[in-house]
Amino acid sequence: MSRVFVITGPSGVGKGTLIALLRERVPQLELSVSATTRAPRPGERDGVDYHFLGEEEFDARVAARDFVEHASYAGRRYGTLRSELARRTAAGRPVVLEIEVQGARQVRTSLPDAVQVFIAPPSTGALRERLLGRGTDGEQEVRRRLAVAEQELQAQPEFAHVIVNDRLQDAAEQLVALVRGALANAAGQSAALD
Ligand code: 5GP
Repeated sequence: MSRVFVITGPSGVGKGTLIALLRERVPQLELSVSATTRAPRPGERDGVDYHFLGEEEFDARVAARDFVEHASYAGRRYGTLRSELARRTAAGRPVVLEIEVQGARQVRTSLPDAVQVFIAPPSTGALRERLLGRGTDGEQEVRRRLAVAEQELQAQPEFAHVIVNDRLQDAAEQLVALVRGALANAAGQSAALD
């Protein structure tokens, strides 16, 4: 049943902002905190924004099959820990994952009932401006991320749900409607099984 939501799309497209707006409107939605080997950005907190792991620890956890999905992205590793997901779904609450495209592909196999949404930019130019404008990454990092984004944008047709983040409020409305619809559907399905 559709109680896990995967929000994917290129870096800089506004996934994080859209998820924050979504969670204001659907407060029962839990956000899965990913693990990463990248360094914390100023203000990011361990265990809140990410579980920050060293390369060796990340490798060990891959070997221990601790991840639902994991991927390399712009030279760093990212992954969703099974324990993190289990802890949040155990409370009976729906969960949202914010992940890149390779991870979303893996989730299609490991969690086939998850609802996957691809967030697309209105144009590559708009994505570049956003990545540069948010000022979280240096110029070289922005270049790397844009190169990855070119590939990620080609994955768009793989996704049944695509939301173009042109006007933020419109995109947020579409996401809220989609998530509410899927949750109502899942509730209907479980009532029918009772
Ligand atoms: P950032 O470094 O900007 O926080 O994240 C870089 C990219 O990694 C973003 O597209 C983000 O959505 C993705 N990401 C974050 N957490 C995960 C994760 O657990 N798994 C995967 N596959 N990607 C992730």
